[in-house]
Amino acid sequence: MHEFSVMSQIVNLILSEANKRNAEKVQHVNLDIGEFTFLGEEQLRFAFEILTKDTIADGAKIDISTMHGTIECDCGYSGAPERPDDVHSLVPILKCPSCGNIAKVKDGLGCTVRDIELVVPDVEA
Ligand SMILES: [Zn+2]
Repeated sequence: MHEFSVMSQIVNLILSEANKRNAEKVQHVNLDIGEFTFLGEEQLRFAFEILTKDTIADGAKIDISTMHGTIECDCGYSGAPERPDDVHSLVPILKCPSCGNIAKVKDGLGCTVRDIELVVPDVEA
């Protein structure tokens, strides 16, 4: 499952960030996923739940937003692609809506952790 390997990297990142800030709990994670990653949101949530078990992120809420992807074509077009014929194929072909050629992906392939809410113990107290 692709979602699992992606989420395992994300969870590692969150935990190391929480560790750096001496957090005792991760409460909330905001995640952006690129449209062209074709990752399943439900699978990502499920993977997050499993991978955070018995960590300080156990029970944390996760919000997943999809970032719209854009393509860039030799004809000069840049923007949204023509809808792929088969969205379920692993490597969908993204065509330029202007000239019909296969275009390069410009944006929408990445995953970004936008925000993490942590519970950091008050050292002054
Ligand atoms: Zn084009």
